[in-house]
Amino acid sequence: MRAALILTAALTILAAPAPGHAAEILPVFDAHLHYSHDAWAPVPPERAVQILRQAGLKRAMISSSDDEGTQKLYALAPDIVIPVLRPYRKRSDVSTWVRDETVLTYLSERLAKYRYAAIGEFHVYGADADLPVVRGMV
Ligand SMILES: [Zn+2]
Repeated sequence: MRAALILTAALTILAAPAPGHAAEILPVFDAHLHYSHDAWAPVPPERAVQILRQAGLKRAMISSSDDEGTQKLYALAPDIVIPVLRPYRKRSDVSTWVRDETVLTYLSERLAKYRYAAIGEFHVYGADADLPVVRGMV
């Protein structure tokens, strides 16, 4: 389970039964899951996918820093993984990406090579949302 804690960031959404209906077992969809570079060694991709299946996940939006983590899981479990692209190649990009123009090249290369359902998760604050890199990503 400790491995699962490393793998899953935080948010697991459990679908609630519709009002007026008796409680029923509904599919679990994780909308916020990361598989970043520092998780690959302690939780290899095959083990990560095993954890997802054992948890009963039907689908999961997964992103990673860098994107290779997402691609590793998608290759093993396209029936579960919904790829999401984030603008980070490593954890330290969280605080620097908005001023790093190489991020745009990175995103363009990934978008040309793979398909994604979304871009994120990323962090941007206040007026930084108007910076050229952020606007370029959008
Ligand atoms: Zn996150």
